[in-house]
Amino acid sequence: MASEVIHLSGAIVIDGRTEASDVWSVAGRLTFDKPARAADLRVDGVVLPGLVDVHCHIGLGPEGAVPPDEARRQAILDRDSGVLLVRDAGCPREPYSTRWLDDERWSPRLIRAGQHLAIAKRYIRYLARDITPDELPGAVAEEALAGDGWVKLVGDWIDRSLPEPDLALLWPDDQLAQAVGRAHELGARVTTHVFSAEGAAQALRCGLDCIEHGTGLDAAMMAKARAKGVAVVPTMIQRENFASIADDGRGRFPVWERHLRRLHRERRDQARALFEAGVKLLVGSDESTTIPHGVYCSETDLMAAAGIPAEAVIEAASYGARDYLGVPGIEEGASADVVVYAADPRADVAVLRAPQAVILRGAPVAGAITAGAL
Ligand SMILES: [Zn+2]
Repeated sequence: MASEVIHLSGAIVIDGRTEASDVWSVAGRLTFDKPARAADLRVDGVVLPGLVDVHCHIGLGPEGAVPPDEARRQAILDRDSGVLLVRDAGCPREPYSTRWLDDERWSPRLIRAGQHLAIAKRYIRYLARDITPDELPGAVAEEALAGDGWVKLVGDWIDRSLPEPDLALLWPDDQLAQAVGRAHELGARVTTHVFSAEGAAQALRCGLDCIEHGTGLDAAMMAKARAKGVAVVPTMIQRENFASIADDGRGRFPVWERHLRRLHRERRDQARALFEAGVKLLVGSDESTTIPHGVYCSETDLMAAAGIPAEAVIEAASYGARDYLGVPGIEEGASADVVVYAADPRADVAVLRAPQAVILRGAPVAGAITAGAL
């Protein structure tokens, strides 16, 4: 049951520059004007715009799309970790579309990227829509219309047909650039899964808006990404997995195996270098088939462990990501989607693990103070 009036007080973190000391949720909307009636609930602490996971997959399991009960379980785990906005970076196909979640008040908000686009045998089985390179521009246009303003591509993957299998590009430059142009005409942005330097270089060359994983960016590419405003989602949990992914290549794909082990060795230094180069960073957990839902705080912990300052991690997790996605944070009239902590996570991201309150559409849904406490 949504509380009619919640008084949030303490440090209201609007963005990196602006703070307030009080804000109210009235019938699910934020206001800085003190309401005439007394609050039903007061929550004191450091208040942030609801966390954002820009790389998460709700409704997918090891064999592709999962039934609604499982999608619901995943969405609640994400929400309870403070994630109130998800850019779904590759969605399930019918009959298990997650569109129904849009009507559920308990569900985090989803911005979908349509289905991942890949080539047969060039990505994880069951997850992607397989097409040929010639079909890319048309398929991107279809996914742009099916999604919520984003399209997700697989940009590089192991090519087992090579004499020495290694990470290799999926798409020729001309089809990729044309496809990105089609998406932009339709008002959609395009992001791509790339591990390799070649994949990152191609993404920057062909006008993509965002890069997932991005382990291959070197200093020159980082400078280019910054200049072009291309955001990078470092997916630190997934980077940790590169060593075990490489194990699959042992004795079979030695070049690929060495490639992944090098990216794994460099994972933390390269993430810190992205920050130091001024690249726009976003937090994405890649919760999906191998990474369980609800582990968002492991992602922020790993970003901090890589040497990215806590304040920058919080920007990438909260108001900075909302601004990037075009979704309001804490502002007059916005939906009351906020997280409250007893201490300031900008000093220590570990604070994110224990929210005082997770308030979604004006309802306390998780944390120490939940609806049951009213
Ligand atoms: Zn993913």
